Parts: sequence; C-alpha cells; structure tokens
Amino acid sequence: MPPSFQLLDGKFVSSELKKSLSVGVAEFKKLYGRTPSLHVVIVGQDPASQIYVGHKEKAAAQIGIESRVHRLSSTTTQTEVESLVLQLAQESHVDGILVQMPIPKHLNSARINELIPFEKDVDGFSSQALGALCLNNAKAVACTPAGVMELLDFYKIQVQGMDAVVIGRSTIVGKPMALLLLNAGATVTVCHTKTKDLYSHVRNADLVVVAAGKPEFLNVSHFKKGSIVIDVGIHRDSNQKIVGDVKSEGLEKHVSAASPVPGGVGPMTIAMLLKNTLTLAHDRMKV
Ligand code: NAD
Repeated sequence: MPPSFQLLDGKFVSSELKKSLSVGVAEFKKLYGRTPSLHVVIVGQDPASQIYVGHKEKAAAQIGIESRVHRLSSTTTQTEVESLVLQLAQESHVDGILVQMPIPKHLNSARINELIPFEKDVDGFSSQALGALCLNNAKAVACTPAGVMELLDFYKIQVQGMDAVVIGRSTIVGKPMALLLLNAGATVTVCHTKTKDLYSHVRNADLVVVAAGKPEFLNVSHFKKGSIVIDVGIHRDSNQKIVGDVKSEGLEKHVSAASPVPGGVGPMTIAMLLKNTLTLAHDRMKV
C-alpha cells in the first residue's frame, strides 16, 4: 500500500461545504432581506432527471435556498421552452436558471442554454460562461468539474505542475475540467474516443479524471503508482450496484488518492450548484 492513501470523500466534503453555504445563505438573507432563488426547468419524464432534480430541490431546501421546478411536458415546443427561459431571465428575484439535461430530441438544447443570461447561468454551459472559463474569469463553472476542483482543494492536492489527463471532452464535464486544470497550472492532456493510445497517456499521468461514461473501463493496472484518480462516471451494473468508470478494486494499494463511486464526485456536483447559486445571487446584488 502507498504510505498514505487518501480517499477523496465527496460525501463528507460536500456536507462540510453545505454547512458553510447555509451560513452564507443566512448572511445573504440578513443583508438583502430576500432568499437566493434557483429555478430548474425540466422537460419530459426522463426518470434519472426526475431523481437528479429531486436531489437538487432537497439540497437547496436544506441550506435555505429557494428552489422552484418548472415541469414541462415532453411535447413542449422550442418556442415554449425559450419563452419560459426568457421570462425567468427577466424576473429580478431569480438568481439562477438551469435546464435539466437531457431534454427531448426535438428541442435544441444549445439554443436554450444560450438564452440563460451569464449572470444567472448556474450550470455554466453557455458559450459566454465557457468563454469566461477559458479566460479564467468565470462567475459560475459547470458544477461537476468545479466539484472535482473543490474536492482536490479540500484535500490540499496542488495540481500545479502535474501531468493531468482528462478522459472525455463533453461540454458539461471534460472540456471545462480540462480548462480548470489548465488554469490551475497543470499540464493537461484530453483523451477521447479518437485518442490513439489512451492507456499510454493514463500510465504516465500524475492525475487522471475519468469521465468517459463507460462502466469500469479502467482498473488499477492502468494507473501510475502514486497517482491520483478522480472517477466521474456513474452507472448501475447488471446487479443494480452503482459503479464508476474505474474498477475500484485494489486502487488503495497502488494510487495515492481516489474518489469513490458513489460518494465521490456526485455529491460535490450538487453542492457546487448551491455554491454557484449563492455566488450569482451575491454578484447580482452588487450591480
Ligand atoms: P458524454 O457521453 O457526453 O461524454 C463522454 C466523453 O467520453 C466523450 O467526449 C467521449 O469522446 C469520451 N469517451 C467515451 N468513451 C470513451 C473511451 N472508450 N475512451 C476514451 N474516451 C471515451 O458524457 P458526460 O456527460 O461527459 O458524462 C461522463 C460520465 O460522467 C457519465 O458516466 C455520466 O453519467 C457521468 N456524470 C457524472 C456526474 C456526477 O455528478 N457524478 C455529472 C455528470 C456526468
């Protein structure tokens, strides 16, 4: 076993973060006489989305953030979704807007995300938010990669100078993750389905963030001794057990730190949504 294996316990870190956020929310209320307000738009009946949105509502209520869910039927038109988003964009008491993905295929998600004003974009998926991240000037960063950075930060893992590999190049995880690591001074390689030899990149990395969405497609044999492994993937296997993109068996004897699934990045994602809501609420009161 490496001398000090560190489990990157997102369940614990997110609960600590939520405690401090609930203090922050109480201060906000005292200062401005109102409650930070998060608005979630959900279109259709995707079962996983219904569960995620339920978790978001519960977590917001726990720390005193007002959350309102706008449920639209799966036959809602592009114009109807757009007019709801535009209406929320105008309303002064609304601090954060997010449209829960995935949305039905007949809708254009990119166009909808672009209608969320930068000042209210809690998910950080719009081109302005991603551009700001590129310039290291973001207000709210996509919650999952932001949660990974918060987790690393909590355990005082300095990524500056590290050779980091991000597996996945999606707009919601891989790309913002790569930018955050780059902004923090890591040397970043992004691997994806067209990468020639993914394993050689992983084998040489000090830090690997795995967000391929492929159940247990990496295992302990792929990582450099003493490296750090962040598993973003979340799946149910054939026995309904929750697993990640990395097989966890034996990791603690080989790498120096790893995030578990469940209880790693997942809880951090929700905590960062709350943090982003409070940050945006404060920013909006300053202008
Ligand atoms: P996605 O499907 O949009 O993107 C996956 C990316 O991985 C793509 O860029 C693809 O090129 C790459 N990829 C796929 N297979 C690969 C392979 N074999 N080798 C190399 N690259 C490969 O998925 P996403 O939305 O980015 O999510 C990734 C995973 O993270 C999923 O399992 C998702 O459920 C999970 N996720 C978890 C959280 C959380 O809070 N824990 C949040 C968002 C996503």
